[in-house]
Amino acid sequence: MEPNDEEPNYDYVTKIMTEFQQHLIERANHHLGYPGNHDCSRYMALSPLLQFNLNNAGDAFKESDHGLHSKKFERGVLDWFAQLWEIERDEYWGYVTSGGTEGNLHGLLLGRELLPNGILYTSKESHYSIFQIAKMYRMDCEIIATLASGEMDCSDLRDKLLINKNRSAIINVIVGTSFKGALDDVDLVIQTVEDCGFSENRFYIHCDAAISGLIVPFLSQVPKKYTFKKPIGSLSISGHKFLGCPMPCGVQITRKRYIGTLSKSIEYIATLDTTISGSRNGHSPIFLWYVLNIKGHKGLQQDVEKCIKNARYLKYCLEEAGISSMLNEMSICVVFERPPDQDFIHHWQLQYFKNMAHVVVMPHVTVEMLDNFLHDFIWKRKIWYRCGKLQPPCLAEDIGVSNCVCLVHGKKKEPLYHINA
Ligand SMILES: *Cc1c(COP(=O)(O)O)cnc(C)c1O
Repeated sequence: MEPNDEEPNYDYVTKIMTEFQQHLIERANHHLGYPGNHDCSRYMALSPLLQFNLNNAGDAFKESDHGLHSKKFERGVLDWFAQLWEIERDEYWGYVTSGGTEGNLHGLLLGRELLPNGILYTSKESHYSIFQIAKMYRMDCEIIATLASGEMDCSDLRDKLLINKNRSAIINVIVGTSFKGALDDVDLVIQTVEDCGFSENRFYIHCDAAISGLIVPFLSQVPKKYTFKKPIGSLSISGHKFLGCPMPCGVQITRKRYIGTLSKSIEYIATLDTTISGSRNGHSPIFLWYVLNIKGHKGLQQDVEKCIKNARYLKYCLEEAGISSMLNEMSICVVFERPPDQDFIHHWQLQYFKNMAHVVVMPHVTVEMLDNFLHDFIWKRKIWYRCGKLQPPCLAEDIGVSNCVCLVHGKKKEPLYHINA
């Protein structure tokens, strides 16, 4: 849509923008498969800030003569996250990034600079950015197998660590995998590296908590699993996913001593810039600060509880309808059979992989949306599978035998007399 620049035509622009807003409202109401929270109307209150061109270039803790920045808010946000992940104010360093990917770029860079001969270990269900980064940084990468839940298989990690005992280990621990919402077990990872004979100065752990970094800390029944009290080096989240900032952003937190007292090459970065990108969004720290204040711990906890409850509801309804599905215990990603209809996938904006599709039950997803989706899905399945004459795919390999209800695996759970009765 090329701008019409012959003469200013406000009516034309207004009309296009109104139509576009209508389109966005429709798309947001059918947005189920991608991990963004589209409950964003509250940010309208910040619209006066659009009058200012804000840039937080450089280190968040260094003031500059350039006055149009929001570093005061940025440091406030960082302090909040540092507290959440249990690292003292004078011991951490961090910044508001452009998203989870930049956090990974920074965390893995620190790992590589601290342990230049290190091998990157990451599970096969890692976000694609991790594999891109390994390539960009020319790091040797060992891909670790996963369990049916999607979490890293630490026995495979052990085997691969033992083969490469002479080289340091940089380990990417995923806090909420992109597809199944699985949590890598950080305690088991640490125990595994230590059992394999790696001392603390020979391994570095980066936690990619893009999706679940703001879910796990608010689950009251779970002990705090991810914390700087354990030997982890860095942790990053996305601000536009669960938290629902209207523009991509994220937070990266690491140990200050890694930034301040690193080897020559990091000093080189530190003098130039401690962050990955130069100019940085000056609005996003204010948006983060705003939503953390508006919601507070209590509001976030309510969001988490609501989403977990709604995800369980969706899983229950799929199960009742005889559809293969899975939901990890502390996850909002409901995985089920991939619909064989591209229009349906597009309509509900589902993500899919192999035989699986998923819905990410974010705070904007209401029970009504889920009911509409279920109704549509169950009705269309009758057409796709000709009322039972054709069979939906077997998902045993993707989500485990116990979650699969295909003709072969479904019967095991439900004895025949039960069906006939
Ligand atoms: C989304 C995601 C990322 C990337 O985050 P962006 O904010 O999109 O850059 C990284 N890791 C995981 C596990 C993710 O789900």
